[in-house]
Amino acid sequence: MSNKLGAIAAPLLAWYAQNKRELPWRQDREPYHVWVSEIMLQQTRIEAVMRYYARFMRELPDIKSLSEVSDDRLLKLWEGLGYYSRARNLKKAAQTVMNDFGGAFPRRYAEIVKLAGIGDYTSGAIASICFNEKVPAVDGNVLRVISRVTASRENVLLPETKKAVTQRLFAVMPEQAGDFNEALMELGEVVCLPNGEPNCAECPLRAQCAAFRENLTAELPVRIKRQKRRQEQKTVLHIVAPSGETALRKRGASGLLAGMYELPNVEGFLSEAEIRSLLADRGLKITDVSYIKEAKHVFTHVDWLMKGWRVAVIEKSGGFIWATAEDMKKSYALPTAFQKMLKQEN
Ligand code: SF4
Repeated sequence: MSNKLGAIAAPLLAWYAQNKRELPWRQDREPYHVWVSEIMLQQTRIEAVMRYYARFMRELPDIKSLSEVSDDRLLKLWEGLGYYSRARNLKKAAQTVMNDFGGAFPRRYAEIVKLAGIGDYTSGAIASICFNEKVPAVDGNVLRVISRVTASRENVLLPETKKAVTQRLFAVMPEQAGDFNEALMELGEVVCLPNGEPNCAECPLRAQCAAFRENLTAELPVRIKRQKRRQEQKTVLHIVAPSGETALRKRGASGLLAGMYELPNVEGFLSEAEIRSLLADRGLKITDVSYIKEAKHVFTHVDWLMKGWRVAVIEKSGGFIWATAEDMKKSYALPTAFQKMLKQEN
């Protein structure tokens, strides 16, 4: 990420001085107000927060009253905002402020970040807005603005990217740290909008913005969700005829291992009795069922956890393809996942 961020402070602060929205928690720089509003805003839109914020402040006007409120009353005040652990953490942190800081909100980022429910972003916001500490406050809005200004293709959903942006902002924080942070957030909220729809014509950073210059605003920021790996359990059957052939099936024409051959298998781990009943339903006459062992196969987005069973049958029925070892070598593409099962047997 090229760091041309040094040039953004002056135009950004000038724009903010002209355009800042009047919000209730901006009327003073009281940490209690900034703190409660930031926690409410974490999962809720500004318009909805306004109502809740006013009621909350009427009933719990300071840290002391918050630290002493009953849990029932607190949750009632929070009702409708959701994510109730936020409210519980507010009270817990208020009690810490009363007990450990004599009721005065801590002034340094390093102390604020230790309070319950307060992370990097919120402590950066409070330390800079209320106490003018030169520390960044990087939320999704700020990540979007900075990614576009620097035309960075780093994935903003990764913690490493947030860390890198925070470090670059550290290097260029102006004296008016609080205004600078608020201005960046505000720009992201009202001008540099998500989903490829920034209002560049109204933006004070047009001259500094690499995404605007290079026509990349629709592509940035890059947001790639890490796919969670799925785990699938399978019972895999090595069904063997008296003459030694193995039962195979052909997989479907699409999806994982499309068009290849496979040992018969079913989802989940079946017991011996379940296997017997399943195969009897298919008209197979079984002479013996014995457990082989377990194996794992890792695909790109899924892991198969397989339990293999050897099943001896009287005749080649059940609608399967019956293949000799030679057939399997020459004619039937059997994926490694299933070959593992056969090998383990030997
Ligand atoms: S010029 Fe456009 S893309 Fe660049 S920061 Fe401003 S609004 Fe965002």
